[in-house]
Amino acid sequence: MADCIFCKIAQGEIPSTKVYEDDQVLAFRDLDPQAQEHVLIIPKKHLESVLALKAEDRDLAAHILIEVVPEIARSLNIDASGFRLVTNTGADGGQTVGHLHFHLLGGRSLTWPPG
Ligand code: 5GP
Ligand code: ZN
Repeated sequence: MADCIFCKIAQGEIPSTKVYEDDQVLAFRDLDPQAQEHVLIIPKKHLESVLALKAEDRDLAAHILIEVVPEIARSLNIDASGFRLVTNTGADGGQTVGHLHFHLLGGRSLTWPPG
């Protein structure tokens, strides 16, 4: 999608520090990390948020949760210590980039609830 910063990152038009990639998914380090480990996991295909996921995206959503998240957590060595997986959605959810992304945060003890 034109003018989408994460589409541009997925297409390599904007550089990012990649931590995982396959044909459907890219994960890269957040520009403004909120924890020692702060990775954004995105589908390469443009989807506005979790609300845009359709039945045809079932395999993609499952792939992210079942394969991608655990693989990245293991590769960052935060699978045993724990981590947080968050997807901010819409204005009240604090979403600032309109391309579905999952924040994976770890490497420190996180508090709950968030602000
Ligand atoms: P949101 O606020 O939508 O949940 O999260 C957007 C995240 O994208 C923020 O944590 C922000 O720091 C990150 N971000 C915004 N622009 C860029 C960018 O160009 N590169 C990277 N690596 N992260 C970005
Ligand atoms: Zn996009």
